[in-house]
Amino acid sequence: MDQLSVEHLLGIKYLKKEDIELIFKTADHFKEVINRPIKKVPSLRDITIANLFFENSTRTKLSFELAEKRLSADIINFSASQSSVKKGETLIDTVNNILSMKVDIVVMRHPNAGAGVFLSKHVNARIVNAGDGAHEHPTQALLDSYSIREKLGSVKGKKIVIIGDILHSRVALSNIFALQLQGATVKVCGPTTLIPKYITELGVAVETNLKKALQWCDVANVLRVQHERMDIKYFPSIREYTQLFGINKQLLDSLNKKIIIMHPGPINRGVEITSDVADSEQSIILNQVENGVAIRMAAIYLLAQQIKK
Ligand code: ASP
Repeated sequence: MDQLSVEHLLGIKYLKKEDIELIFKTADHFKEVINRPIKKVPSLRDITIANLFFENSTRTKLSFELAEKRLSADIINFSASQSSVKKGETLIDTVNNILSMKVDIVVMRHPNAGAGVFLSKHVNARIVNAGDGAHEHPTQALLDSYSIREKLGSVKGKKIVIIGDILHSRVALSNIFALQLQGATVKVCGPTTLIPKYITELGVAVETNLKKALQWCDVANVLRVQHERMDIKYFPSIREYTQLFGINKQLLDSLNKKIIIMHPGPINRGVEITSDVADSEQSIILNQVENGVAIRMAAIYLLAQQIKK
């Protein structure tokens, strides 16, 4: 397979195992490129990309932008707080106005689940979902799996536990789909109020005891509590959350093996993870960020290959 089976990157749910393999193979090449003295290739000189961010972002926005620049694409950036969306313009109108400037690919982050799917049905451009509400964040899950593969040789057969606010996390859902597609076993661990009821139907086991979960896994992917998506209280206090579900050095050292620690960022140091764990040699958090650029270069490059000029 040398082409993606999809026209848009809307979610891991729509991908085949072979798509993930192709993205990883392409990312291997781009990772080599971005470690050269000249970190740029001319591949997308004829492609224009709009980065539309209707929700805040640091890592993802910079990572996409850098990936696009490394591929020599022309880019325009838009963030909702400075735009006419505030003046009452609809999403389709906003995007169609941008597309009339001859844009080929739209990278979009949006607070509403399904925004990317909706847009892909109404506008004439390739859409990349950079996070849609609590739904999916496909490039994050791809870079997470890619980082596991880099560290452990493969994802197949590995045991991964995702810890924390599973209910409001798009990283969790995309990771579950991606890891299972590649043959990993996934568990979740967190307060029962933050674990969706449908989770077992996805073939994911629930472990509420953090130490048992860590004892079981090869890799722990630690999530932030998504306060911005909560309108009620899901647990009594941050202090209690940290006591029951926070990862600290003492806990890690009490395990009879060395597991790998991941976090998609932003980290709330001292809440879900302590600094001595986040910065330890067991942590691959900064490798995830580095790999994000190669993965996003690969995804955009492969989508752009399908555009007939
Ligand atoms: N950066 C990730 C996201 O956009 C994780 C997080 O915000 O906690 O979903």
